[in-house]
Amino acid sequence: MSHDTGPVPANRRATDWRDAAACRTEDPELFFPNPGDKAGAAAAKRICAACPVRAACLDDALAVEGGQGVESRHGVRGGMGPKARRSEYERRRKTQPQTVPEPKPARRKREPAKCGTRAGYQKHQREKTAICTPCRQANTDADRRLRNTGTTRAAA
Ligand code: SF4
Repeated sequence: MSHDTGPVPANRRATDWRDAAACRTEDPELFFPNPGDKAGAAAAKRICAACPVRAACLDDALAVEGGQGVESRHGVRGGMGPKARRSEYERRRKTQPQTVPEPKPARRKREPAKCGTRAGYQKHQREKTAICTPCRQANTDADRRLRNTGTTRAAA
């Protein structure tokens, strides 16, 4: 996707595919229709359909977006909306795995804060619950370490 209408920056390669993008002279907003605006999306896709660099644009979008979910993909790029790009990413991942980056592994859920720790003290504060003695003591100890050593971590 190009969407930029200004002069080509000096630091960009002379043969960059974006220089031939059909959207270079279009209003960038056209490529970000509101959710559910089918007419708006269709108008953007019509421009993409005639774009000489559509394949390169789609490759670039899939590489940049990687394995993100639909909600993290925005606008029309390479003639496809977010849902279609997500499907295309999955299709390529199965049939041409070398052409798309692997999806990021799901983040591990954080352990719940334990009682008797500074994190437990902070959890009490967040949830506005009565602060128990072990958590209060852990927070006091951590404050003291911070003043004395510059870190709340206990020495190993
Ligand atoms: S395919 Fe569409 S979004 Fe991509 S460069 Fe061409 S016109 Fe722009």
